[in-house]
Amino acid sequence: MTEHRITVAGVAVDTRHWIGGERVASADTFTDVSPIDGSTIGEIARGTATEAAAAVAAAKAAFPAWAATPRAPRARILHAVADGVEKRLEELAIVETTDNGALLRSHRRGVMPRVAHNFRFFADWLLKLDHEDFETRGHTNHVSWDPAGPSVLITPWNAPLMLATWKVAPALAAGNTVVLKPAEWSPLTASLLADIAAEAGLPAGVLNVVQGYGAEIGDALTSNPDVRRISFTGSVPTARRIAESAAANLTPLSLELGGKSPLLVFADADLDLAVDLAVEQYDNAGQVCLAATRLLVEESVAEEFTRRFVDKATALKQGDPRDEATDIGPTIHSRQLEKIDGFVQRALASGARALVGGHRGDGQYYAPTLLTDVRQDSEIVQEEVFGPVLTLQTFTDEDEAIRLANDTRFGLAATVATGSRERADRVTARLVAGTVWVNCFFVRDLQAPFGGSRLSGVGREGGTWSFDFYCDLKNTVTAP
Ligand code: NAD
Repeated sequence: MTEHRITVAGVAVDTRHWIGGERVASADTFTDVSPIDGSTIGEIARGTATEAAAAVAAAKAAFPAWAATPRAPRARILHAVADGVEKRLEELAIVETTDNGALLRSHRRGVMPRVAHNFRFFADWLLKLDHEDFETRGHTNHVSWDPAGPSVLITPWNAPLMLATWKVAPALAAGNTVVLKPAEWSPLTASLLADIAAEAGLPAGVLNVVQGYGAEIGDALTSNPDVRRISFTGSVPTARRIAESAAANLTPLSLELGGKSPLLVFADADLDLAVDLAVEQYDNAGQVCLAATRLLVEESVAEEFTRRFVDKATALKQGDPRDEATDIGPTIHSRQLEKIDGFVQRALASGARALVGGHRGDGQYYAPTLLTDVRQDSEIVQEEVFGPVLTLQTFTDEDEAIRLANDTRFGLAATVATGSRERADRVTARLVAGTVWVNCFFVRDLQAPFGGSRLSGVGREGGTWSFDFYCDLKNTVTAP
C-alpha cells in the first residue's frame, strides 16, 4: 500500500487528488524529490484520464450552486482562505522550499503573504466589479459578469502556489469552479491549498486538485467539452499542445509563457542601481519567467558596470535554500540542470566567454553565470535558459539598444535603467513587452494587466482583466 499521508519538514501532506471534496488515489504514483539534496519526499498520485474526467465532473456538478452564491458570501469564503494561508504560512513556506528549492526567506516574507493577498485582492475586486449601465435610444444596456463555468488551471514549478493562486483566486471569485493541475516537480502546496479551502468553507467540488504528469493527464483536462476556461502558465511547447487540444471545443485560453527579457542600462543610469537590478536576475536561481536575462549596456559604461557586477555576483552565497543567509538555491531538477549546462557549454564552445560562473556547482546547483562575446542570433541570446545564466551585450545608442531588445520571439517584460525621464518614455514606447520596469524590477500590482506579447503569451490577467477572462460578459438591453 502506498503511503499517501506523508510528513514534509514536520507538515502532514496528503498526496492524493482532491476531487469533489474527497481524497482520491490513482492506481499508480510518481516519486517527488527535493532539489535541495536529491532526497525522496514521497509518492504522489499519478493522475490519468479517469481522474481528470472525475475532477471536471465534480467541478461541473458544483458549478450551478457556486455561480449562484451571491458576491458577498463568495468573497467572505475567499477571505477565509486567505486567513487559512496566513495561519499556515510557515508550513506552506517550508513545504514549498523543500519541494521546489526556492529560498525559504522569500517564501516566508514575500511569496506566501502574496498568496494570501491574491485571495483578498480578488475577493475585494469582486465586490466593486461593475460596469455602468448606459442608454441607447431610451433602452438601457446592462452588462453583467456571468461566471463562465468549470476552469482548468495548469501551473509550473518555479513559483507553484503563487502562480496557482493568481489563477485560482480570480476564477473562484468570478463564480467558476476549478480543476487545478500543479506541476509534477512541485505538487505539494496545491494539496495543502485544498485542505485550507475546505477548512475555509469552500463547498465540495468548487476547487479540485489533480496530480500527475502533464503529458499523461493534461490532454484529458484540456479537451474536455465541459471545461469553459483554460488558464496555463508554463512553456511554449506545452502551450502549443494545449491550444491544439482546446481547439476541439474552442475553449478560451489564457497563456502565460516564457521570456527572454532585456535589461537596458544607459550611460546616464545610476550604475549601482543598475548593477543591483542585474544581480537580482539570479533570484530563484534564474528560474523566473520575467527575468531580464539579456543585459544590454551602453558601451561607455560597460567596463565599469561589468567590474561592479562581477564583484557583486561573485559575493552571492549559493547553498541550502532553508538557510537565511543563502542568496541562490538549487535548480529544480537534474533534467533542468542538464538543460542549463547544455546551453552554457554550447555557448562557450561557439566563442562566448564566461565573466562569472559558466559551470555546475555541487548536486543540483548551477553557478551564477554571466556570458559575454555572444552573437545576437545565437542560441544563448535567443532561447529561454530558465537558470542563473545572463548574457552581456553592449550598444552605442538608443536605436541600437531598442533593436537588440526587441530582436526576440518573446515579449514578456523589459527593464530600463536610465537617469532621464524623457529617455525612459521614448524607450518604453518602442519596447515590445507586457510589462516594462523603469529603474525597478518585479514591482507588481494585482490591479495591473499581466501577460506577454509574441511567444510570451496570449491574453492578460490581473484586476478587471482576470474577470474579463473568467467571466462570460452579458449585455441585457431593456426597452423603456
Ligand atoms: P511546462 O510547460 O513543462 O509545464 C507547465 C505545466 O504544464 C505543468 O503542470 C505540466 O505538468 C503541464 N503540462 C505538461 N504537458 C502538458 C500537456 N500536454 N497538457 C496539459 N498540461 C501539460 O513548464 P515548466 O517547465 O513547468 O515551467 C517553466 C516555463 O514556465 C518557462 O518557460 C517559464 O518562462 C514559464 N513561466 C511563465 C510565467 C508567466 O507568468 N509568463 C510564469 C512562470 C513560468
